[in-house]
Amino acid sequence: MELTGTVLRGREFEPVEGRVVVGDDGRIEAVEEASVESTDIVVPAFVNAHTHVGDSIAKEAGGGLSLEELVAPPDGLKHRLLRQASREELIEGMRRSLRYMRRGGTAACLDFREGDVEGVEMLREAADGIDLDALAFARGSIEAMKAGDGFGASGANDATFDRERDATREAGKPFGIHAGEVDASDVDPALDLEPDFLVHVVHPEPAHLERIAAQEVPVVVCPRSNLVTDVGLSPYEELAERTMLALGTDNVFLNSPSMFREMAVLSKLSDLPAAEILRMATVNGAEIADLEYGLIEPGREARLLVIDGDSDNLAGAQDPVRAVVRRASVDDVRDVITPSA
Ligand SMILES: [Zn+2]
Repeated sequence: MELTGTVLRGREFEPVEGRVVVGDDGRIEAVEEASVESTDIVVPAFVNAHTHVGDSIAKEAGGGLSLEELVAPPDGLKHRLLRQASREELIEGMRRSLRYMRRGGTAACLDFREGDVEGVEMLREAADGIDLDALAFARGSIEAMKAGDGFGASGANDATFDRERDATREAGKPFGIHAGEVDASDVDPALDLEPDFLVHVVHPEPAHLERIAAQEVPVVVCPRSNLVTDVGLSPYEELAERTMLALGTDNVFLNSPSMFREMAVLSKLSDLPAAEILRMATVNGAEIADLEYGLIEPGREARLLVIDGDSDNLAGAQDPVRAVVRRASVDDVRDVITPSA
């Protein structure tokens, strides 16, 4: 298979006119420079590094409520709405979110799953038949982690996670935890667990930044979620100087799971370069989850996104990386390629 157009090649997303050659094994064989007719822009498919698709049935509920009122168990609005919904309704909501994500160029999501083993099974059912790696970062029990793809802890102030941490390490799976979303109090205890990644980190103190750098812990930031819940914004540039950042859309009930929207907002809230934001939306999330895609270079699995560079929205763009990061939307997606071997 060959895809032609402006190819955003390698870790720097260097725009190359030419073609991507994909082998029968589903891997990228070559990126060839050539003069081509196509005005498409070929980019790696996205990895959404933090979602909660389980609350897809509660979109836009709770306008004006605080984070506590929205999500605190057991009686936060989200939990009340989830309790009222049937298993089928919940799965159907999740399936529709996954389908929308796939249509919007997302190849994988790292989903924090509540509801123990049953929660993992529901995500598996929801993802059945959708060409997207919906990874379950389970919680509730060690069994749930074993059934899933990793452990996704709520936060270090909620419980102790030492047993779960050890078991996840033994299973060779990643351990992620929310930290520093509302205040700084749970950052040190989260770092004590030696997590594979942190989520949010809106309120790190200088000592936390030093620890994040020393422990080389990646951080998944969720800017639109932080805007909606009004907890503040992560110090993106300071974090990016110290560690690898990835990007997540967080709860579906707060925001649509569109990586285009997340990238656009982050690009306008921060001074991070467009290429850095595109890495956050692709290869960095892939590395956290040990996925072999996220960049266009020989040997990688070919999970690719073909964007119409001549859409009414994008025609005339002078810088393809900035156009993809700051301006493109789901409407500009021409195709999402996920060949299997
Ligand atoms: Zn979260």
